[in-house]
Amino acid sequence: MHDAGHNPHAGLPFTDDDATIAAVLEDVSIPALMCSLVHMTGDPSWIRGDIRPQGAALNEYQGFMSEEMKAEARRRALPAIARYRDNGCVLPPPPPPEVLHEMMSYLACAPVEDDVVPMFLEDLHLDGSDAGAVTWRDEIPAEVRADAHVVVIGCGEAGLLAGIRLQQAGLPFTIVEKNPGPGGTWWENRYPGARVDVGSHFYCYSFEPADHWTEYFSQHPELREYFVRVMKKYGIDAHTRFNTEVTAATFHEDTGRWTVEVRTADGATDTIDARFVISAVGSLNQPKLPDIPGMEDFAGPSFHSARWDTSVDYRGTRFALIGAGASGFQIAPTIADDVAQLTVFQRTAQWMFPNPNYHRPVPDGERWAIRHLPFYGRWFRFLTFYPGAGLNIERSRVDPEFDDGSGVAISESNLATRQLFEGWIRSQVGDDPELLAKVLPDYPATAKRTLQDNGSWLTCLKKPHVELVRTGIERIVADGVVTVDGTHYPADIICYATGFRHNDYLWPMHIVGRGGRVLREQWGEEPTAYLGITVPNFPNLFCLYGPGTNLAHGGSLIFQSECQVNYVMGALRETLASGNRTVEVRPEVHDEYAERYQSEISQM
Ligand code: NAP
Repeated sequence: MHDAGHNPHAGLPFTDDDATIAAVLEDVSIPALMCSLVHMTGDPSWIRGDIRPQGAALNEYQGFMSEEMKAEARRRALPAIARYRDNGCVLPPPPPPEVLHEMMSYLACAPVEDDVVPMFLEDLHLDGSDAGAVTWRDEIPAEVRADAHVVVIGCGEAGLLAGIRLQQAGLPFTIVEKNPGPGGTWWENRYPGARVDVGSHFYCYSFEPADHWTEYFSQHPELREYFVRVMKKYGIDAHTRFNTEVTAATFHEDTGRWTVEVRTADGATDTIDARFVISAVGSLNQPKLPDIPGMEDFAGPSFHSARWDTSVDYRGTRFALIGAGASGFQIAPTIADDVAQLTVFQRTAQWMFPNPNYHRPVPDGERWAIRHLPFYGRWFRFLTFYPGAGLNIERSRVDPEFDDGSGVAISESNLATRQLFEGWIRSQVGDDPELLAKVLPDYPATAKRTLQDNGSWLTCLKKPHVELVRTGIERIVADGVVTVDGTHYPADIICYATGFRHNDYLWPMHIVGRGGRVLREQWGEEPTAYLGITVPNFPNLFCLYGPGTNLAHGGSLIFQSECQVNYVMGALRETLASGNRTVEVRPEVHDEYAERYQSEISQM
C-alpha cells in the first residue's frame, strides 16, 4: 500500500456515511471523479469504459455527459468510494505515467500530445511536490547569495510568486509595492461585481490550490484574501515595502548593479541597491482616463473603475458608465438594480461567451470532493486548464483562403465561433432589432478578449431604466454627458471604465540600462522583450507579464507567471553559479524572437 500521507493532493481521510457521499456525487464533475477513482482503486478501467466525456470545452465541467451517463457513474462510484473509506482511505500505488497520460486524454476527449504532458504534470503536482520550487540554494555559496540582492517591483500575483521563489533560493530580496497590501489589480479593483474570468481552481498558484473558493469565478474580496493568506504563509510581508513606489532604476556598468529609486506615500525618497531587478508591475496598474472635453466641469463624483470610490452612495442616482469592456461589463449588471437610471456609453460592442458557471457558487459537495477525494481537485484543475491551453487558438488565426463575403470571419472555425457567440446574443435579445444592432459586434469573434457571460449583461441592458448608448461622446457637462448628436444624458455620478495604459509597460518608471539607454525610448511605441521577459541593453532586469504576454484566447496569468518565474530563477542560478556578473539577452536572439512573434501575431 502507498503512504499518501505526505501528498497534500491525496485528500484528507473521511468517515462520512453513504448518504453524505451520495449527496456529494450530485455536485461533482463526473469526468474528474472518474480520474479520482483510478487513484482510489488503482484500476484504470474507470476511464476505459462506457462512461466518458463527450467533448472538452472551457467551463464545461461535465464533458457534455448526458444525465443518464452521470447517474450511472454516480451509481458505480458510490460503493467504490465507500470501500476506500472503509479501508481507512489508504491509497494503492499511484497510477504509472502512461495511465496519467491516458487520464489527460480521457478528460481532453482527444489524444494529449506527448510533448505537452510534462507541462501539465508540472502544473498538477500529482506526486505532491512543487515542481517550480527552487532547490538550488546550497549549490551557490552563501557569500555569493548574500551579495545578490534582488528588487522585485510590485507585489501582485507575479511579484508575490517571485518573492516565494527568491526566498526558497536563499537570496536577499525586497519587494516594493505601491499599494498598502498584496494582490495588485485585485487589491486595487474594488468596483461592484469585480470578479476573475478564469476559473478560480486554475487561477491560483499550482502549489497553493484552494478548496475554499465559494464561487467558480471568485469575486475580488476572496481573491484579495487569497493573496494576503499566501503572503503571510510564506512570510513575504517581512520583505515587502508597502505604500512605496519605484520611480526609477539605473544600471551601473562598472559594478553590474542597479540603483532603484523609491518614493513612499508621504513623499520621502530612498534608494535601494540591487544586483537583479524583477519587474512584476503587470499591465493593468495604470488606469487610463479618456480625454473628453469638460470632464473637469462635472459637478458630481466621478472616478475610474479601478479607483471606485466606495464612499459614494450610488443607490437611487442617475449613473453614467463610460466604457463597456471587461470592467464595465461587470459593473453594469451589478449596480443596475440599485440606481435610478443607468446609461452605458459603449464605443465598441463586445463578443461574449456563454458560461453558466460564471456567477455560480461552488456547491458544498464539490468542495468536499476537492478536500477528500484523492487528486479530484487536481483533475478538476486540469479540466479548467486544458481547454484554455492553446486549444482554441486556431479559431483566431486568419485563413488566407477563407472568404465567406461577410468580412467578419477569418476562417471556417472562426465563423463557427462567431455563430455560437451570435446565437447566444440573439437568443437573449429577442425581438429588438435596435438593441441587437447595438450589441452585435462588427469584427471577428475572438479578435479581442472574449467576455464571460451568464446572461447578466443583456438582462441588465433590457431593463427599462437602463440605456445603452453607442453614439460618440462630445463632452461632459456639469450635470451629465452630451453625445455628438446633441443628446444630453443627465448623470449624478460618472464612472470611467475605460481601461488601462497596457501598452506603456513599466510606465511611468524611468529605467536606464547599459550606456545610458532609457527603456521607454528604446521601446518607443512597440515594446518587445525576449519571451516577454528580457530586453537587450538591460542586464539583470527581468519582466514578468512583460510585452507580448497578454492572454487573448484563454489560459491563466498565474500559470504564465509560474513559467516566467521559473525562467528567471534559472537565469539567476546560471549567473550566480557561473561567476558572471550579469545576464542579458543577446540582441540577435531577441530580434529573432520579436520577428517570430510579429509574424505569428500578424496572422491573428
Ligand atoms: P478595456 O477592456 O480596455 O475596456 C475599456 C473600454 O472603454 C472599451 O470598451 C473602450 O472602448 C472604452 N473606452 C475607452 N475610451 C473611451 C471613450 N473615450 N469613450 C467611450 N468608451 C471608451 O478595459 P477594462 O474593462 O478595464 O479591462 C482591461 C483588462 O482587464 C481586460 O482586457 C482584462 O484583461 C482585464 N479584466 C479582467 C477582468 C476579469 O478577470 N473578469 C475584469 C476586468 C478587467 P473601445 O473598445 O472602443 O476602445
